[in-house]
Amino acid sequence: MNKHIFLFTLLFSLCFSCGESTPNSKKTAKDDALEISEEKENKKAEFAIIIHGGAGTILKKNMTPEKEAAYKAKLEEAIRVGYDILKNGGSSLDAVEKTINIMEDSPLFNAGKGAVFTNAETNELDASIMDGKTLNAGASAGTTTVRNPINLARLIMDKSPHVMMAGLGAETYAKEQGLTMVDPSYFYTESRFNSLQRAIEREKVELDHDDKQAFYDPEIKDSKFGTVGCAALDKNGNLAAGTSTGGMTNKRYGRVGDAPIIGAGTYANNNSCAVSSTGWGEYFIRAMVAHDISALMQYKGLTLKEAAHEVIQNKVPQLGGDGGIVAVDKYGNMVAEFNTAGMYRATMNDKGELVIGIYKN
Ligand code: ASP
Repeated sequence: MNKHIFLFTLLFSLCFSCGESTPNSKKTAKDDALEISEEKENKKAEFAIIIHGGAGTILKKNMTPEKEAAYKAKLEEAIRVGYDILKNGGSSLDAVEKTINIMEDSPLFNAGKGAVFTNAETNELDASIMDGKTLNAGASAGTTTVRNPINLARLIMDKSPHVMMAGLGAETYAKEQGLTMVDPSYFYTESRFNSLQRAIEREKVELDHDDKQAFYDPEIKDSKFGTVGCAALDKNGNLAAGTSTGGMTNKRYGRVGDAPIIGAGTYANNNSCAVSSTGWGEYFIRAMVAHDISALMQYKGLTLKEAAHEVIQNKVPQLGGDGGIVAVDKYGNMVAEFNTAGMYRATMNDKGELVIGIYKN
């Protein structure tokens, strides 16, 4: 009798353990969660880099083949600088800073040389950078003589006890620290100056007419075309993001946009993602765009794609704003999300695969 009970127990426990390892066995929610996180882990790229050169009404019909080729070439040149740094084991912070330098030095973008004009016919530049490992950050606003504002943001983060400096004070610090300074005329470009004249002209016309649509001009509506930004993950698993801009054409009274605001224009956190924004700054500040994406991932468990979609396709347009972001998460997944007709953008993964985009599809 005892022998029978023993055999029965043995058979039962054998069957039970067979069942557990059978692939068809019923999975629990916990198993699913495990699989999803394993999948993410498996997807982990050694490093990754994504950049933007501004979002707006960028339509193929308004673009010449030469202009398109010029943008693509500059985006590629810039991202390859960051890619090489990451590939050689450099930090995501260095990759972000040096990549942005290339775009700041190009008149194609609204950052550094080629920045848009204020109403007073000056160029006032904003920038910020953030280290996802330490949550250190640096930002500068309204500078007119610092050739590469992203370098000043980095300097403020690395060398000063502050996060943000503005105007004359920021320039004095830049000079003291030996950054390259330029005459304000360095930032002049004819096309940006013409955009300012058109914006001023439109303002006059709008004062006399109700039908603003009649004066719709995509070049002017997107008076902010061309902010630049970068987000990167390095081989040590550290995330970083940075953004640099001239702001919006015809801005007045020392207006500062989202680009130098940590949490709005730039955010990085090794627990979630690194984000750089571009768009209508007033709305991006109020929506705290970059931090919101990180928070949705960290506190709500959303993927980067879901979080970016929620903020850019729902939250920002509900407030009335437009624009986009580029971001990379701690696994190396990259996302370019925008609610405008286009966004200049490029990505490179650890296999060296380059993807460049301008329009929606
Ligand atoms: N966000 C920038 C600003 O409002 C402009 C842009 O990104 O296009 O200053």
